[in-house]
Amino acid sequence: MRIVDPHIHMTSRTTDDYERMHAAGVRVVVEPSFWLGQPRTSVGTFCDYFDSILGWEPFRAQQFGIAHFATIGLNPKEANDPRCREVLTELPRYLEKDRVVAVGELGYDSMTREEDEVFAHQLALAVEHGLPALVHTPHRDKLAGTRRTLDVVRESGLAPGRVLVDHLNEVTVGEVAGSGCWMGFSIYPDTKMDPHRMVAVLREYGLERMVVNSAADWGRSDPLLTLRTAEAMLEGGFTEDDVDRVLWRNPVEFYGQSERLDLDGVLEAGEPVAATSGATFEGNSVLRGSRDA
Ligand SMILES: [Zn+2]
Repeated sequence: MRIVDPHIHMTSRTTDDYERMHAAGVRVVVEPSFWLGQPRTSVGTFCDYFDSILGWEPFRAQQFGIAHFATIGLNPKEANDPRCREVLTELPRYLEKDRVVAVGELGYDSMTREEDEVFAHQLALAVEHGLPALVHTPHRDKLAGTRRTLDVVRESGLAPGRVLVDHLNEVTVGEVAGSGCWMGFSIYPDTKMDPHRMVAVLREYGLERMVVNSAADWGRSDPLLTLRTAEAMLEGGFTEDDVDRVLWRNPVEFYGQSERLDLDGVLEAGEPVAATSGATFEGNSVLRGSRDA
């Protein structure tokens, strides 16, 4: 089985997770930039974080046989903090980088006027930079938030086929299904979507424009829930080809629209080289070797 995790925050995960993910068939991950829990107080910390998920994290993933890509944006929660807004002027230079496969994650948290402005601004950046957009839907007021999200997408001029609306559930999927946007589902260890509920959604709505992720981060989460969903699909009567479509071909098609999802050699690669290789990180020469110092 081959798996793309199209939404996972690897910066919060350990190398054990990379090993387990590789053993489960995960060969590609997309790491959206997001809120780190601790509020940021300046733009410099965003830039260091973006550099980290575009430099250090792909280096770390590659040692475990996993190709790592990212989405860059100002997350909805921090869109409300005036200290963070200035990052909008830094985004254009990041959106030109090779491993950036979408703008994101964008959207609503509390549905404030500030969030409206920042969301619309970043959808315009997606149009300008020829990138798809990854859109987070709020965990509270989910249905209203999803409807408002689709309105903003419609007004943006970004083609619905270039937008992935994420964190959907049984209540919100119907709204997005008719919009032409892609539908993303984050599978959680408890509450919200679980693998069996996901199988029921796929049975009802079909496989087209459907993607499944673990959204694993610093909270309670499990990076193997993509595999668990694949297993639940097979148990539920879906074929291996169906599983391959949802867990691999669909996310590859969505992020492939960036024309930066370079998967050459990803599946042919042999065993991960972690631990034995002595590979060095070239992204920041100042820090090279500092781990052993
Ligand atoms: Zn996320």
